[in-house]
Parts: sequence; C-alpha cells; structure tokens
Amino acid sequence: MEILKIDHLGIAVNSMQSGRAFWSDVLGLAFEGEETVAEQKVKTAFFPVGESEVELLESTSADGPVARFIEKKGTGFQHVAFRVANLDEALAELKAKNIQLIDEKPRLGAGGARIAFLHPKATGGILVELCERS
Ligand code: ZN
Repeated sequence: MEILKIDHLGIAVNSMQSGRAFWSDVLGLAFEGEETVAEQKVKTAFFPVGESEVELLESTSADGPVARFIEKKGTGFQHVAFRVANLDEALAELKAKNIQLIDEKPRLGAGGARIAFLHPKATGGILVELCERS
C-alpha cells in the first residue's frame, strides 16, 4: 500500500471546550470548527499542524467508541491516521495478510474522508486509521 503521510493524530477529550483550552488557546493551533459524526457518536474538531492535523474527539454518547476508550484508558492519544493513496487497495492488502480489521469496508469519516480502522490487536496496541481524501 502507498502511505502518503500522517494525516492526523486523534486525541480523546472529555469536552471540546477543555480540549480547545490547551490545543488552541495555549498552543495557538487554529480551530476550524466542529463536526458531529453521528454514526461514530462523536464530535470532532481538526487543528492543522503543517502537513498534518490534530483531531480532538468528544463522545456524544456514553456508549460510543470514544467514551468506551476513555473509560478504559483515560483521555489522551487515541489513534494515528495515515493517509493512503487508495483505501480499497490498502484494505485488500491487509486482508490478504490476515490483519484484523475493525472496518472491513471503508466508511465515511469527518470531513468527507473515506476511512477504516485496524484492530489494535493487530498493531501492537495502537488504534490505526487509514484514510483517503479526494
Ligand atoms: Zn481520525
């Protein structure tokens, strides 16, 4: 597969407001608005950092994946997202290598990206997202 760059780092926060207090007010990263991804039960905000971005994730529901992550591991670094040239090809390659996936098929993420998550069991404990943007 062709990995183009680190697209973003996902960071789980209890609230967007407290997250922004550090990432935006202290570090001075530009806040470019929030987006709710209903399917993932999450509110996201992206902060550009050079060629990559920081993504803050606030759960909108107590049973959402981000809420469950915070319950188990606390707030903080949650996933790394690699931008790939072709997500369908990348997933086919991973399946051929018997890599455990959370998403067998691409789904729609924030900002209209096509995304898929790899299972942390297959990556040494890190939640890895692949994303393709047109
Ligand atoms: Zn992400």
